[in-house]
Amino acid sequence: MNVPPDDIIELRSDTFTLPTPRMLEASLRAPLGDDVYGEDPTVRELERLAADLLGKEAACLTPSGTMANLIALMAHCPRGSKAIVGRESDIYVYEAGGASVCGGITYEPLPHQPDGSLDPAAVAEACLVDQDDPQFALPAVICLETPQNRRGGIPLTLDYLDEMAGLARDQGVALHLDGARIFNAALALGVSAADIARFGDTVQVCLSKGLSAPIGSVLAGDEATIATARRIRKMLGGGMRQAGIVAACGIVALTEMVDRLADDHTNAARLSAGIAEIPGLRLERHEPVTNMVFFTVEDSRRTTRAFIEDTARRGLRVEELGPGRIRAVTHAGVDETHIDRAVEILTEVMAQPSLGQG
Ligand SMILES: *Cc1c(COP(=O)(O)O)cnc(C)c1O
Repeated sequence: MNVPPDDIIELRSDTFTLPTPRMLEASLRAPLGDDVYGEDPTVRELERLAADLLGKEAACLTPSGTMANLIALMAHCPRGSKAIVGRESDIYVYEAGGASVCGGITYEPLPHQPDGSLDPAAVAEACLVDQDDPQFALPAVICLETPQNRRGGIPLTLDYLDEMAGLARDQGVALHLDGARIFNAALALGVSAADIARFGDTVQVCLSKGLSAPIGSVLAGDEATIATARRIRKMLGGGMRQAGIVAACGIVALTEMVDRLADDHTNAARLSAGIAEIPGLRLERHEPVTNMVFFTVEDSRRTTRAFIEDTARRGLRVEELGPGRIRAVTHAGVDETHIDRAVEILTEVMAQPSLGQG
C-alpha cells in the first residue's frame, strides 16, 4: 500500500496518497522529450489515454486541477464575461479567485441543493441577461462539480447533467465539468467516466487524488478547445518540459488505480457505520455515496477544533471543512484495519474529556 507516515491514519484527504512503486518504476523508465514542443512521448500517451477514457477528442496534462479548471474557464470565457459556479465548488472556494485574477472573469456563485447540484431554474436565470444592454457581464460558462466535494462527495446524476447540458446549449454557453474525482462518481453511478464526461464541453480530472499519482490533472475536450488550452497553459507557466516523468505515473493511475476505488467506497461505508454508533457524533448523511464521510461533533465539552486535536494526538487525522463540519476521506493509503482503528479512536475521544486547547 502507498501509506503515509507510520502510525498516522490520514483521512484528511485523498490527496495524501503517495505514488505507488509501479508509478515510480514507470517514471524511471519513461521515454522523455520536450513537451512544450509536443515531443514527450509519455505525455502524449497519457493524454491519448485520458481523452479515450473520457470520450473526448483531446486532453492536455496540467500540473494541477486548479490550473486545469483555470485554463478551461479562460478558454471558454472572454474577459469581462461571467462563469456560473456553485457557492461551495472548488473553483469558487479553493482556487484563489484565479479566473478573476488571470482571466478577467467574474464568478456568479449559486447556492447548492442538498444533493450538491445547482437549481436549473437559478442557472437559467443567471444566464438570462439582455445581450444588448451594456451593463451586464455576459454568461460564458456553467461549471458543475461531480462528485460535489463540500456537499458530501455526491455525484450528479446523468439525468441532471443531461438537463444542464441542454440548458447550456439553449443559452449558448459552455458547460465545464470539474470531475476531479470523476472515477468515484462513475463507480457510484455504475457508469463509465465517459458517460459523465460527455455532457461537458470540457472536463477536468485529477490524477493526484484517489488515483494516487503524485502530480497532475488532465483537461479534456474537443481538439480546438484543447489547442487553445495548450496556449493558455503555457501562458500560466504550466508548460512543462520532460513532463513524462509525471505522465508515467498518470498512466499507471488511469490503468491500475481506477478499479480499486471500490475499496475506498467500501471503507467509507464501514467508517460511516462505525461513526453512526458513537454517541455525540452525527453523520450528515446516513450512508456515504463515494469516499467521503461528513459528520459533526455534538459535544458541549469541546470545540470541533479541540476534537480534531484530540483525534490527531491519538493518530487519526480528519479535517474541518466549514465550521463544525468534519470530513474523513478514504483512499489507497488506508485499509479496513485502519478504518476499524479510526472508529476506535473516535470512540475513545468521545468517551474522554478534551485534552485540546481550543
Ligand atoms: C482537488 C480539487 C481540485 C483542484 O485540484 P488540485 O490538483 O488540488 O489543484 C479541483 N476541483 C475539485 C472538485 C477538487 O476536489
